[in-house]
Amino acid sequence: MFYTSTRSNTELVSAATIARGIAEDGGLFVPVEFPAVTPDFFQRLTGMDYCQRAKAVLSLYLTDFTAEEIEHCVTGAYRGSFENEEPAPVKEVKPGMHLLELWHGPTCAFKDLALQLLPYLLTASANKTDPGRTKVILVATSGDTGKAALDGFADVPGTRIIVFYPVHGVSAMQKLQMQTQTGDNVAVCGIEGNFDDAQSGVKAIFADPEMMKFLAEKKMDFSSANSINFGRLVPQIVYYISAYCDLIKQGKIKNGDAVNVCVPTGNFGNILAAYYAKQMGLPVKKFICASNRNNVLTDFINTGVYDRNRTFHATTSPSMDILISSNLERLLYHLYDGDNGAIRQLMNELRQNGKYEIRNDVLTRLQKDFYAGYCDDETVTKTISALFKDEKYLCDTHTAVAVNVYEQYVRDTGDNTPCIIASTASPYKFAPAVLPAVYEGTLPADEFAMTETLFETTGLPIPAPIASLRGKKVLHPAAIDKSDMSKFIREFLK
Ligand SMILES: *Cc1c(COP(=O)(O)O)cnc(C)c1O
Repeated sequence: MFYTSTRSNTELVSAATIARGIAEDGGLFVPVEFPAVTPDFFQRLTGMDYCQRAKAVLSLYLTDFTAEEIEHCVTGAYRGSFENEEPAPVKEVKPGMHLLELWHGPTCAFKDLALQLLPYLLTASANKTDPGRTKVILVATSGDTGKAALDGFADVPGTRIIVFYPVHGVSAMQKLQMQTQTGDNVAVCGIEGNFDDAQSGVKAIFADPEMMKFLAEKKMDFSSANSINFGRLVPQIVYYISAYCDLIKQGKIKNGDAVNVCVPTGNFGNILAAYYAKQMGLPVKKFICASNRNNVLTDFINTGVYDRNRTFHATTSPSMDILISSNLERLLYHLYDGDNGAIRQLMNELRQNGKYEIRNDVLTRLQKDFYAGYCDDETVTKTISALFKDEKYLCDTHTAVAVNVYEQYVRDTGDNTPCIIASTASPYKFAPAVLPAVYEGTLPADEFAMTETLFETTGLPIPAPIASLRGKKVLHPAAIDKSDMSKFIREFLK
């Protein structure tokens, strides 16, 4: 199995690329070819538990890892760190609508599925390519990646981790989760700006020769825990395949039947993983790309024009408040049949004008696989409220965006194919937005009191990682201007 950059094909690398995160030309690593599986594969996995399924899928991508290494990574990541030993349960909430709950991990968001595993993959990869050097994980987060990466990398030998988050762009609970993180190798810092500023800042630091020199002298290398790192995507492919197998097991579908997949989308990593599962052979009919008011992807999929020159909205689904959706570059690479020149040009246009348009035939191919829609905060509240009232199911704001856009899709198309909807976060991470949707009394003032009222109203248990935040000490109060990110990094690594 080989990987190449989206922006040039001169370099073919092995899975150990995970240790590097991003290609030298600024492009993203993509598989040259997808491992193909047949229906027997899904049949076989149906009889397995999550860890066994993960091993089966991972071994198709990480062909330079031994079976023992993969076993070590998977067991380390998934045994003992998820509620009820069930990393990704699937629940039918109403006929045909299956919520894939990805928030039973230590930080209560779907990022845990990849970020509990990534430190193991990265350490194993680094040992193959450049042992003895320290990996510095740089993270820009819209809220959930930061905490999940901190939890995964805290005190992992041979690594340091630095997380930047938009100081006014995350929920109070998300901020507290990050600010209270313990570990000798961690740094957390707010920046004045939004997620796109944090992400561009990190990308610029990756490409800064001065910084590279500074790191080289210290025998350090940067890597990424954002979904630009291919190591984030493979674990996400696993849970779509696992969900399909669970539907077979639950008797909801027969092996070979098509399903739809609906994903609340920001940086396009999660939905891309589902698309990758399809390239391997998972029978997916349509991908439903759900956005909040930052609907740059909705417009792109409907018109072929990507245009980030628009107002940035802070919404109640902050982890999707993104206007530069990094992983789209990977999808474009595949839709352009690996034409690096075309991708370089589109990405240049994006950098220079904030805008590009894809070829007509490519748009046709895109729309064959993808449907897109969006909804605003008010609709999110109504969706949470209705789902709770009608089905006694409580979902978070991000998942509500997906549920609503799925309903739009069914109304628009009449397509009742069973749908797997990615449920990406625990409602308790966003209590101030979720509570008013299901509770009519006066809202308590404090964030923790809100989680208790939410519990009294709905009966859904408060996840232990949220409850235990109360009274924890803030260890990382720093907030800086985005122009000071390099300085902050140098101070920390000194
Ligand atoms: C990160 C995140 C998303 C968006 O996922 P992408 O892979 O960036 O598209 C959606 N919901 C939640 C809760 C998230 O944390």
